[in-house]
Amino acid sequence: MNSKSESLFREAQSLLPGGVNSPVRAFRGVGGDPLFIDRAQGCYLYDVDGRRYIDYIGSWGPMVLGHGHDAVLAAISDAVSRGVSYGAPSAPEVKLAREVVNRVPSIDKIRFVNSGTEAVMSAVRLARAATGRNKIIKFSGCYHGHADSMLVSAGSGVATMGLPDSPGVTEGAAADTLIAPYNDLDAVRQIAADAGDGLAAIIVEPVAGNMGVVCPVDGFLQGLRDLATGCGALLIFDEVMTGFRLSRSGAQGVYDVTPDLTTLGKIIGGGLPVGAYGGRADLMEMVAPQGPVYQAGTLSGNPLAMAAGLATLLQLNDGAYERLENNSRRLQEGIVTSLSTHGIRGTVQRAGSMLTLFFGRESVRDFEESKACDRERFAKFFHAMLKRGVHLPPSSMEAWFVSTAHDDQVIDETIAAVGESLKECAQ
Ligand SMILES: *Cc1c(COP(=O)(O)O)cnc(C)c1O
Repeated sequence: MNSKSESLFREAQSLLPGGVNSPVRAFRGVGGDPLFIDRAQGCYLYDVDGRRYIDYIGSWGPMVLGHGHDAVLAAISDAVSRGVSYGAPSAPEVKLAREVVNRVPSIDKIRFVNSGTEAVMSAVRLARAATGRNKIIKFSGCYHGHADSMLVSAGSGVATMGLPDSPGVTEGAAADTLIAPYNDLDAVRQIAADAGDGLAAIIVEPVAGNMGVVCPVDGFLQGLRDLATGCGALLIFDEVMTGFRLSRSGAQGVYDVTPDLTTLGKIIGGGLPVGAYGGRADLMEMVAPQGPVYQAGTLSGNPLAMAAGLATLLQLNDGAYERLENNSRRLQEGIVTSLSTHGIRGTVQRAGSMLTLFFGRESVRDFEESKACDRERFAKFFHAMLKRGVHLPPSSMEAWFVSTAHDDQVIDETIAAVGESLKECAQ
């Protein structure tokens, strides 16, 4: 007997490449077929066959308040009643901009776009224009969206597909992208020295989430700051994942390092498609129409998306971050205890409400170490968890996202499922 998910997936495969609109959703990293989701509420996903799952994908980051939060839905409904898009300025753009500028000290001015990819692409263009230089240093295993120049050594989505690079990215587009290992300041210094005065920017996930969660080692981010300043390049923090998740001002607030430009996405749209880039006024004033660096968007600053983003940010007060921290720490501790109970080698790396269980290693500090983890065991573990009603991200190299809707009881249920699942895949 076929489930509704199975028949939908079969039809989807005849219409969409791989049956999906974004590769990781297709379960290639863990095997099997993806579930089709019918609705989501709080910390739960409900599939088209009527089964309920505790959700740790959180739409890959945006759903920090859980699904269907009252305040967010009310803001979207109110916006809908005024029409869905104008192509002319509207108040919600100013309100969300004000909120972001208030929260993130390094951002004086901001431009809204429609995705994280677009944010990064635009920030890189701006950095090149501002410095009159071409080269960009990015880190192996960091993902900055799928713009050509960033699709080099780009982490989980690409890596679990077994594609180190993508066909279709020209040598020219990739040639100015220099790759450094994450958390290795000496290597970055060497690469920057080799680039001479051609280096426009260093772009980094200040806490890496796209090779699984890898935190910066002490001094790494400050070292990048000093290096960029020293050679006249810009420092870009890609906070598409970490922005408003790790603190009111993102990872830069936690680590107290100030980038020149910041890219945002995910949470800033409250589940609707939004990205943004912002930073120092003198840089942002180079963007058209104030300056010559062209960048535009038919739906940019869309009133629905602005409303959803603003409503989400307004819920993210100190209490919310405390709750996220406490529940995530409890989950981490529960998994770690369970690993040792079952004698399974592994580690749980966590930054606030994003965490990754890596099998087969005691710590992971860069992409090479992430790739060296036991992906087969993760695949078994993933399916054991799914069977028990817990939907993890379907890849060993992704962050799990905890939301404010994951309460104590849900965390306990998850830890219980982890115990049973680890037992099942201990052999
Ligand atoms: C998700 C992500 C992106 C890409 O954002 P999209 O909205 O998927 O284009 C870029 N950078 C980081 C750090 C991300 O996590």
